[in-house]
Amino acid sequence: MTQTEYQNAVKQLQKYSYHYYVLDDPITTDEEYDILYHHVVAYENEHPDEIIPDSPTQRVGDVPQDKFDKAQHLSRMWSLEDLFNREELETWVNRITKGYGDVRFYCEPKFDGASLNLIYDNGALVQAITRGDGVEGEEVTQNAKTIQSIPLRIEYTGRIEIRGEVVIFKEDFEKINLERSRNGESLFANPRNAAAGSLRQLDTRITASRRLVFMPYGIGANTLEIKNLSERMEWVYGLGFRNPHMTHLCESADQIETFYHEMRVERDNFAMLLDGMVIKVDAIAVQDELGYTVKNPRWAAAYKFPAIEKLTTLREVIMQVGRSGVVTPVAIVEPVDIEGVTVERSTLHNFDEIERKDIRIGDKVIILRSGDVIPKIVKVIASERTGSEQIIHRPKHCPVCHSELLDEGALIKCQNLSCEARVVNSIIYFASKQCLNIDGLGDKIVEALHNAGMVRELSDLFGLTMEQLLSLEGFKEKKSRNLIDAIAAVKGCDCWRFINALGIEHIGEVASKTLCGAFGTAFDTASREAILALEGFGGEMVESILEFSRVNSEKIEKLRTLLNPVAPIKVEAHENPFKGKSVVITGSMSVPRDSIKAILEGLGAKVASSVSKKTDYVVYGEDAGSKYDKAVELGVTLLTEREFRSLTSLADTTPTAQGSGVHPKNSLFD
Ligand code: NAD
Repeated sequence: MTQTEYQNAVKQLQKYSYHYYVLDDPITTDEEYDILYHHVVAYENEHPDEIIPDSPTQRVGDVPQDKFDKAQHLSRMWSLEDLFNREELETWVNRITKGYGDVRFYCEPKFDGASLNLIYDNGALVQAITRGDGVEGEEVTQNAKTIQSIPLRIEYTGRIEIRGEVVIFKEDFEKINLERSRNGESLFANPRNAAAGSLRQLDTRITASRRLVFMPYGIGANTLEIKNLSERMEWVYGLGFRNPHMTHLCESADQIETFYHEMRVERDNFAMLLDGMVIKVDAIAVQDELGYTVKNPRWAAAYKFPAIEKLTTLREVIMQVGRSGVVTPVAIVEPVDIEGVTVERSTLHNFDEIERKDIRIGDKVIILRSGDVIPKIVKVIASERTGSEQIIHRPKHCPVCHSELLDEGALIKCQNLSCEARVVNSIIYFASKQCLNIDGLGDKIVEALHNAGMVRELSDLFGLTMEQLLSLEGFKEKKSRNLIDAIAAVKGCDCWRFINALGIEHIGEVASKTLCGAFGTAFDTASREAILALEGFGGEMVESILEFSRVNSEKIEKLRTLLNPVAPIKVEAHENPFKGKSVVITGSMSVPRDSIKAILEGLGAKVASSVSKKTDYVVYGEDAGSKYDKAVELGVTLLTEREFRSLTSLADTTPTAQGSGVHPKNSLFD
């Protein structure tokens, strides 16, 4: 890097930081920022006399925005040094152990949000200040007071700063962006920006509506006598702050590495985004001796997780026609690696979304892939446009059968029932894992069978012969025999799989199971009233079933005869505290709520969606809202997830322990 390149890189980082910290609207990914930042650090290490004083390496955050009153922190707030791999971790750990011998490290999640400093005096929250440049930030006390996980009073009378990260749950982020797009507002690039943007609102009501969550991670100015950080944090949780639950004391780089990998595995199970693990020296005395650089504590570091957001270019948009005829635009992007997976495609949902986000071919885009979630384009970097980008037009004709499309706004549909794409996709769906799970019948083979004229509709699958298969390219004796056997093996399948495999619009796995539980294999003769009475069935679903059954009665009968599906035999649950009880689940749990529901149903409970006098239990998680309040009001027994689990384990091991673990109405374990 030359001196001019260095100066330009600093300017570029400053521009990125301004958009990121001040406007909450980044124009690049963290990864791109970090790469450039590291080039700058390397240059500055070699040329310390050329360091530009306001280089981002020399300061925390950015200048606080003028629209808020500024306020000083009692003690400085800091950034964190980043570690990206095992080698960097070891160097960092050795640097500390060299001087201090056996040191314990407190490891905790690095929540990706906006930092906030809470000042309490005489037990009351007196000020909430954003990190700003570390010395002074923006005063957002009124906004902070709307965050339920920030106690307005604590049982401690000394003056103290409690620091933490304000985050937004991933599912709330999706909801906010959906609402913003409906209102024609610009979208937040990621949950971090949504959290920061929501905290820094001039209208407190907006902050209040955003369901922000405060995760404490440290203490600033204080007069505490507690000697270790781990104990201090336990004390903080005891004051009524949230506990991140995944913390651990480690004694070596090996142990830190192991815990880091455990946390990476758990990463997707957290309701909020994690961008790494923070490692801190546990003993406060050692922290004090190690001190600070211009920007970071020497006693703490962020061991970063691989990026889930990447910058790439949109190459083209292709149209896919699904089994229901809906035409879905799919983005083809310059391939990028996200956590070891090469991403080349991303869903664009529908054409309204393309218009809302103003996505154009040739655009630089930020793509996000989190866990198993399908990669999606979260943002277009419009400032990088050259003028050669092409607008994407709504299609008028089906890309497969060329018939005229029906444009219903958000959805564009091919109406031709014999459109090849619709037929092929319904066969692929029929054979897929969540339906009949026919081994060896993937997309390519279905297409080949269809193109060869061997399978024109679902029932044709059951008439396939060895001769036919052997005539296809790539099919030898063994492969052909396996496929015929796999198709034959689905006879006698679970009835819900049969219903699901038909591909009735709005009827997925859960609804298929309910239908099967209520009507067995004869779901298609059930009355409108009977279906409407089922839990979770609305008008649209009922009409869809009735219409499908009417139009396809012959096909359903033919498939039913071929498949001979069986309805489950109802097994009586063992005696347990939940058997025959009505239970409501609310708030976010450590696992998806459906898993809790499945456990309860297995125990013979009825899971209802609203709380009434008839409700026996409410199992509640983090940030439970009105259902929790209603339960309190009606005196319904409340159970935390942990209490619920301990009762279910009682149920598992001692089936006769009926009611033994159940507490009096409204009581809590702790
Ligand atoms: P950081 O995110 O690297 O780390 C420090 C912050 O982490 C703290 O201030 C705190 O808010 C937070 N944190 C979360 N959990 C914590 C815990 N357990 N203990 C202590 N702190 C915890 O800090 P930063 O200085 O705000 O930002 C630097 C990073 O921001 C860069 O590495 C880059 O990834 C990103 N950034 C991106 C852009 C962009 O344009 N995309 C621009 C500027 C910065």
